[in-house]
Amino acid sequence: MGADDAFPVAASQAAAFTSFGVARLPRLVVGPGRIAELPGLVAAYGQRVLLVTGARSFRASAAWAPLVAALDEAGLGWDHVAVAGEPSPELVDGAVAARRDDPPDIVVGIGGGSALDAAKAIAGLLRSGTVALDHLEGVGRGLPYPGPATPFIAVPTTAGTGSEVTKNAVLSGRLPGATPGTPPFKKSFRDERLVAQVVVLDADLLAACPPAVIAGDGMDALTQLLESFTSTGASPFTDAIARTGLEAAAGALPAWHAATVAGAPPESSAAARAAMSWAACCSGIALANAGLGAVHGIVAALGAAFPVPHGIGCGMLLAATTRANVAALESRAPGSPALSRYADAGRILAGDRGLTDEHARDALLATLDAWTTALRMPRLADFGVRPRNLPELVAESRGSSMRTNPILLADEEIAGILAACH
Ligand SMILES: [Zn+2]
Repeated sequence: MGADDAFPVAASQAAAFTSFGVARLPRLVVGPGRIAELPGLVAAYGQRVLLVTGARSFRASAAWAPLVAALDEAGLGWDHVAVAGEPSPELVDGAVAARRDDPPDIVVGIGGGSALDAAKAIAGLLRSGTVALDHLEGVGRGLPYPGPATPFIAVPTTAGTGSEVTKNAVLSGRLPGATPGTPPFKKSFRDERLVAQVVVLDADLLAACPPAVIAGDGMDALTQLLESFTSTGASPFTDAIARTGLEAAAGALPAWHAATVAGAPPESSAAARAAMSWAACCSGIALANAGLGAVHGIVAALGAAFPVPHGIGCGMLLAATTRANVAALESRAPGSPALSRYADAGRILAGDRGLTDEHARDALLATLDAWTTALRMPRLADFGVRPRNLPELVAESRGSSMRTNPILLADEEIAGILAACH
């Protein structure tokens, strides 16, 4: 027996470890109450901090007063920008212009995806001497980002986008000369230097999330986990991250949502909140390294034409898209590794490790259907989408996310997904 035979390695396994990379990650500080460590984390980068928050919720929360008192006590100077709604290039440029002569040492973003994206973009532009539209993909001037980025700490107060660990800031706005009624663009300012230095994942900060935010952001995280897990860009690293994220989300998302709808005291869902906070963070790490799939491809087209919030769009489409992907793989690529990924995800989400692959995929689809209903996802028609809009949505859905879908979907298959969600 030769040495090669003594430890046989399956060909598929050997191939999986041949070539992949891991993008830069922030330092992660995880645990309830750890927002208290923020002054110490800030002080490592300087004495003056710019806080970027949402317009209301964090400043209205019990966490705001102790935080600013702790910054004062630590002798740190702070100043504040509030972000109402989705951040625009004008908001980012305005915040930067007001501080360019005397920029802060560090930017801390505390809030949902919009506040974190605004903070990330502001930190990127404070010292670069450029403006957001110089670098915004698709609609900008296409100039290379010169850096340097100001250090950035991300403190999410929702569980969803994964923006705390990604290198892109999504900004929305209207181009000069756009016809009235045209929905705003949503484009990314993207650079590895924009990745946060530190992320504080303190699930106590998520206690005030209303049910609609838990549902929309949670379905975004779930979609990002499932799409990166089945992506053609998946690697052993993203497999591990997506798997732990799916395990965390499995019981937590419906439980946290149901408890909040029922008005249960926030302490009762502390464990579910912490699990979803981790699941969302994993979804960001996984998508940044593996890419996404058809749900995000279609949602990009949908969000560009209709006022559909990103997470709600993902939640509306996830079950139908997964069903279409599984059917397409079974008929055209029965040997695809994505089919066993869907089965693995089914065993995790349905909580039954003993299921055969086929039954596990059925369990996945049944679980996604049940969560879509339990989390009260709307229908496309609720956002004004009409059957006559479908061909254009299909045509616009083939962006970068669609390219890592586990199988190339035909136009009719994408139209079928939209029709099933109408
Ligand atoms: Zn997403």
